[in-house]
Parts: sequence; structure tokens; C-alpha cells
Amino acid sequence: MTNISGFTDVLARIGKARKNLLRQSPFTKLIMVSKGRSESEIRPLLEAGHRAFGENRVQEAEAKWPALKRDFPGVGLHMIGPLQINKVREAVALFDAFHSLDRPKLAHALKVECEHAGRSPELFVQVNTGREPQKSGVLPENAPALVALARELGLAVQGLMCIPPHDEPPEKHFALLAKLADELALPYLSMGMSHDFETAIRLGATHVRVGTAIFGARR
Ligand SMILES: *Cc1c(COP(=O)(O)O)cnc(C)c1O
Repeated sequence: MTNISGFTDVLARIGKARKNLLRQSPFTKLIMVSKGRSESEIRPLLEAGHRAFGENRVQEAEAKWPALKRDFPGVGLHMIGPLQINKVREAVALFDAFHSLDRPKLAHALKVECEHAGRSPELFVQVNTGREPQKSGVLPENAPALVALARELGLAVQGLMCIPPHDEPPEKHFALLAKLADELALPYLSMGMSHDFETAIRLGATHVRVGTAIFGARR
């Protein structure tokens, strides 16, 4: 299977999942996760017209994306991995959205660097719905305070993001994220990956982050 047929297959599956929504959402945007993929693997998808991509490491993104962004205007690059404070300046210069705001210190750093760069990326607060100690994300009960802080700082928080535990059905995690977003009046839900994006869409995902189902298994 070429990456292009993986792409069209995923688009068709998104369209089909949207015909049967349990929770309404105005759209579902496909964020193509290109971590671990070379520039030459990514180019054909840009040539096919796709413009939303996700990376999880600042350094890797800096090696690939400045050139790709130059060649393909209109790219939206989404940071989906944990973000270190000392990388925030470079990240703000390159990324157009952040899905992993998960602590007050990072909110403060983003405010400083966004102001410095005159940029206002779209922001998602990552919630650790499975309360997994090894996973990043704010605990559900601490999400309201972090969203409030980000709003006070003038950051454009638009939604919530989660990665459900591997060994559990994802439904209750997606439903919890949706309920929290409702309570906080946040319109966007970043949830769903290759193995569960259709379930996430039915439960209201506005953004799905899909890599393997398009590019094949990562090496
Ligand atoms: C790698 C990654 C994805 C994509 O995972 P696939 O299983 O390849 O679709 C989605 N979200 C995050 C945060 C990731 O790190």
C-alpha cells in the first residue's frame, strides 16, 4: 500500500464515521502524524494537497519542516509530544498548534515566547484521563485550573487532548474528555489515533492524530 492509498483510505473512514455520530462535532480534521518519516515520505502527501501534520519532537521537526513549509504554503504543523521548557522558543517559531499544554510552567513559557514571536498558536490542554504516572497530561481534576491560568495569560486555548491507556477500551476516556471540554466551554477535542480514530470521531473528536494507518508501521 502506498502512503497515498493509506491517506485516501483514512479520509474515507473519517467520512464514514462522521455519518454516525453519538456526539455532534462540526468537523473532524485529520492531523497526519509524520514523526519518524523522512521528507521524501512526507512530500507526496503534501503534493496530494494535505496540509495538517503532527510531530512529537522539536529537533526532528526543525530538521524537516522549514524546507517543507517553504515549498508548500499553508501547512499547519501540530506539536503533539511532550514539550520541554528550554525548547519552547524554537517550537513557537515552527509549530502552529500545540496539543500538549500540561503544566503551569509551560503555560507561562508559551505566553512569553508567543509574545516575543508575535504568534498565537492554537492550544490544547493534554489531560491524563487514565491517571497513568508515566504519561504526560494534567489530571482531570486539575484541568479547569490550568485552562483558567492559560486564559488569564491570554493564550488561545481551544480544546483538550488525551491519549487513552493502551490496555483499556478508549470510549470512557473519550467521553470524559468531551464532558470536561463541555464544562470548560472548549470547542475542540484532539483524540483518536490509528487504532481508535473512528471511535473518537463518533464520540466527538474534532482533531484525530493518525500516523501508522497512513504511513505503515514505524521502524
Ligand atoms: C505517534 C502519535 C500519534 C499517532 O499514532 P499512530 O498509532 O501512528 O496513529 C498520535 N498522537 C500522539 C501524541 C503520538 O505521539
